[in-house]
Amino acid sequence: MKPGLTGADAARDPNAVFEQGRLLALPTETVYGLAAPIDRPDLIERIFALKGRPPDNPLIVHVATLAQARQCVRDWPELAHRLAQRYWPGPLTLVLPRSARISDRITAGRDTVAVRMPDHPVALAVLRSLDVPLVAPSANLFTRLSPTTADDVRAVFRPEDVAVIDGGPCRVGIESTILQMDSSDRTVTWLRPGLISRPQVEALLPPGWRIRAPVTTPSGGPGRLAPGQMKEHYRPNRPLAVWLYADESERDRRLAGLGEDSVLVELPMDAVRAARVLYRKLRTAEQGRAERIVLMLPAAVLTRSEWEGVLNRLRKAAAGWLAPGEQEPPR
Ligand code: AMP
Ligand code: MG
Repeated sequence: MKPGLTGADAARDPNAVFEQGRLLALPTETVYGLAAPIDRPDLIERIFALKGRPPDNPLIVHVATLAQARQCVRDWPELAHRLAQRYWPGPLTLVLPRSARISDRITAGRDTVAVRMPDHPVALAVLRSLDVPLVAPSANLFTRLSPTTADDVRAVFRPEDVAVIDGGPCRVGIESTILQMDSSDRTVTWLRPGLISRPQVEALLPPGWRIRAPVTTPSGGPGRLAPGQMKEHYRPNRPLAVWLYADESERDRRLAGLGEDSVLVELPMDAVRAARVLYRKLRTAEQGRAERIVLMLPAAVLTRSEWEGVLNRLRKAAAGWLAPGEQEPPR
């Protein structure tokens, strides 16, 4: 192996990786990110090219300090301060008016930038040693499952292109919550649900602020605000059906009706633990031989705010849902 090609070398000297024209796959608490410094347009181009990511999909800027975050934005409202104090480092991304340090390529032409401070010792150590923020979208191919282990990344990208730092399995397991803040009308737009839930943000809203849902296009599709909500999202390579059940007896009936062509996925009943294993379980199911994946969930989770992130990912991934009491149509 060439010097500097191993993950351990990359962790020690991330700059050497970038000088070689390679990207860094970085463990964070949410998912693994494919990272490049914000002042390296050539490497930022490589991110889009390697991922097959459409150019209109902006990147999240990762920082190690509050000072760095503030250098990326023109406005830092009291609410941003409160949220950062409470939830950074952590799985919460704040979208604010961008500063001159942030290029059009990073924001896909928007006047706003998405910023977060990841809660992972390796990500923070790398950021500190570079002293420049990193853009880091998930280290997967566009529309494929996000990676939650170093092996997931290695399975997709070549070492010549990407140096992978192994930081173990991701603790959160799904992408960050994304909020856009607008001081002029004191609104928070909920762009992507994640582990940080609405009640947690509501509790910190200064007087006069309110949370609103994302703007949608006339066709009912997602608006330009939130490209992460586009329909071209993760879809397993075979149909995923989500079967909801009202109680244990319905769960048993559904289990009995599960055909041999299906592989069953069940999640822990705790939302935090469910998020942690969601992508790993879907990945395993996807690699098996079954014709379809059936994920069973108690219907009660639908009304719980802490499940919003997991349910959002399932809505994008699933081909069909079976409500409680509903029978599967003949296939
Ligand atoms: P990921 O690919 O998981 O890193 O997610 C990046 C997502 O962050 C994008 O797909 C957008 O949904 C969101 N995002 C990044 N920058 C902005 C921005 N300026 N305005 C709105 N959403 C943004
Ligand atoms: Mg992604």
